[in-house]
Amino acid sequence: MDIRTGTGLDFHRLIDDEARPLLIGGVEIPGKRALLGHSDADVLLHALADAILGASGHSDIGIYFSDKDQANKNLDSSVILKKSLALMSERGYRLSNADITLIGEEPRIAPHREKILERLADLLAIAQDRIGLKATTTEKMGALGRSEGVGCLATVLIQKD
Ligand SMILES: [Zn+2]
Repeated sequence: MDIRTGTGLDFHRLIDDEARPLLIGGVEIPGKRALLGHSDADVLLHALADAILGASGHSDIGIYFSDKDQANKNLDSSVILKKSLALMSERGYRLSNADITLIGEEPRIAPHREKILERLADLLAIAQDRIGLKATTTEKMGALGRSEGVGCLATVLIQKD
């Protein structure tokens, strides 16, 4: 059996914008703040896509979805994630599990955890018990500690039978 691991790390700035949806893991989190980015800025899906691309020996999502391309403005990040899964599949791999850690003081993830897990299981086409979803803070240290943004670290294992 051929198994490989990959990691993805992403950060986006948090801004005050009631009109812009705040998306984490493909789920809209209600509130007055949003993540800033050229796409929909879903920090979790970006970290996950990069982990999948990394594991399957590809470059990062910026190569496939340039932030200079107007076609990618406010792009639904599930499109990015699906592209990474397709590139992985082309090389004969399937996703075994994903472990995800969100980093920041806000938004609070706990109330939305189940919904995010359901959405991720659907997008990744794996069982929910193959997805780890955690959140941590930086103990108020640095930019993330001042709620200036949100970070996400994702690790995946892929395998070829
Ligand atoms: Zn991103």
